[in-house]
Amino acid sequence: MTDEFLPRTLPNDATEHTRSVTSRPIPQFDPADFDRAQRGLIAQHDTGVIEGPLWPAWDINRWSFIEQGAPNPDTVHPSLWRQAQLNVIHGLFEVAPGCWQARGYDISNITFIEGRDGWVIVDPLTNTATAAACLELANRHLGERPVTAVIYTHSHLDHFGGVLGVTSQDDVDAGRCQVIAPEHFLRETVAENLLAGMAMNRRALYQFGPLLPPGPRGHVDSGLGKCVPLGVPGLIVPTVDITRTGEELVVDGVRIVFQMTPETEAPAEMNFFFPDHQWLCMAENCSHNMHNLIPIRGAQVRDSLSWSTYIDDAIELFADDTDLMFASHHWPRWGNDDVRGFLARQRDLYRWIHDQTLRLANHGHVATEIAEMLTPPADHYEESHTVGYYGAMVHNVKAVYQRYLSWYDGNPCHLNPHPPVEAGTRYVELAGGADALLASAKAAYDSGDYRWVAELVNHLVFADATNTEARALLADAYEQLGYQSESATFRNAYLMGAQELRHGHPPRNPAANRGLVRALPIDQLLATVAMRLNADDLGGVDLAINLVVSDLDERWFVGLSHRALRYRIDKQVDDADATVTAARETLTQVVAGERTLDDAIDSGDLTIDGDGGAFRTIIEHLDVFLGGFPIVEP
Ligand SMILES: [Zn+2]
Repeated sequence: MTDEFLPRTLPNDATEHTRSVTSRPIPQFDPADFDRAQRGLIAQHDTGVIEGPLWPAWDINRWSFIEQGAPNPDTVHPSLWRQAQLNVIHGLFEVAPGCWQARGYDISNITFIEGRDGWVIVDPLTNTATAAACLELANRHLGERPVTAVIYTHSHLDHFGGVLGVTSQDDVDAGRCQVIAPEHFLRETVAENLLAGMAMNRRALYQFGPLLPPGPRGHVDSGLGKCVPLGVPGLIVPTVDITRTGEELVVDGVRIVFQMTPETEAPAEMNFFFPDHQWLCMAENCSHNMHNLIPIRGAQVRDSLSWSTYIDDAIELFADDTDLMFASHHWPRWGNDDVRGFLARQRDLYRWIHDQTLRLANHGHVATEIAEMLTPPADHYEESHTVGYYGAMVHNVKAVYQRYLSWYDGNPCHLNPHPPVEAGTRYVELAGGADALLASAKAAYDSGDYRWVAELVNHLVFADATNTEARALLADAYEQLGYQSESATFRNAYLMGAQELRHGHPPRNPAANRGLVRALPIDQLLATVAMRLNADDLGGVDLAINLVVSDLDERWFVGLSHRALRYRIDKQVDDADATVTAARETLTQVVAGERTLDDAIDSGDLTIDGDGGAFRTIIEHLDVFLGGFPIVEP
């Protein structure tokens, strides 16, 4: 081996193989996208730097290397570069008289609608700091108004996490601000952000790449927007649930007709129409890229058939009367014909992926084969909003396959394979040892077959994570794969893999979404308790606890049997081991580890009648999760 693959700290140049990809011409996409993205600019944030409690939540200047009109660097796919140029445009924009958006200060958009008495806000971004900064920008340039309503279009964090930056729990409790969301919003939020939250947050770093240094060899975009902000999310539980299509509300004097779209881009999501203005909000069901049928951060797989059908329903319900469409990512579309054309392409894209994947699956092809077979036809690529800057076709095909046929491809070889370390060790032995494997991988690298390099050397890294040559070669391969990726999320994942192979993974600090835990109803809080139960040494333990949540006047039964927890509201048992009484806040603090059980008992905030050890057994067996777990190494 040469020293070419010894560990290096700086990114590599593009290889000739990568340059042959990044110099390839792309379709002549609609130049009007740039006009749409800049139309109605009123003002920009003074500095572009939005301070957070500990560090800046956002700094759009980090991407100032992305110049409008500049050609793509040879380390960035030309099509992704174009999207990155669109997503770096930022400011407060007038979308229509009475409707404004702040874009480019978070991954998502915040929309301000002028109500009779104040602001009706659609989707208050991801965190408090960015949301507050955008509200301040709107108030300063458009006139100060109180926030009278917040609408969450769906259950993803970047559409509600900044709510405390635009209103407060007190204002909501006092009726000064209502919070409107699709039904099951809270259930789905908890499922996605808490039950699988630790794993998903870590994987999301690979999807969005916030730890990658911005630059032509680093972070350029996230496809759906520039990047995710850094900060702590909050949550206010909705006060109004929307439950059916056609439901109409007058929100601070603004008439809104809702369309339910469950199981689409999010499990709980809705579009809505403003009949007095001819505006259509498509939430995140339509955006200016091919979306994810399953994101690489992990999520429940989405229903592409429903997704397409709901877009078609939106066309039937609203398109005749629509003059403007806006969404919670990217720029709006103006004019009835333009909106119709846009919606139709988005509708047909998701239907095409769905139908063609299943057609090929019914011939017996497996997901990895279909992913190679289904290259997007040129007529799907005439508009950039169908390109996979966020989703990727090879990934979306697998999502459709998974939804109908599971991750398992039917070949019993894959029913129960060895896990990575076990398989890696055996593959390295089969290859004739580490040096022989590396020699073969190096030849593949020189020929530009980076996918094969990754597969081969990944086995070696999992067999021996201390092999510096292996780590370096795998990092180099990931890097070229990243440079070649049209999908921003693929690019981010590959470049994160390279970065962590070279510099290690982030520190393993205890992590928790405590801002979200605080707002949880008790059934959701208990769901997180059950998920955290470390059941290894709870064999034979049977517990029955009556739980009284004093401030909510709720009575729960909590049982433990066969190492699993169960719970039920409005049930108490006579022969319980103990009755535990506390307010929700105290319970939340104890569960979150912010306060010990003894402290809660000593202060009188929590009382236990009966066997004091029963409840303690549960609390003492709650697992604690550490962020920063390794991904590209064992
Ligand atoms: Zn979003």
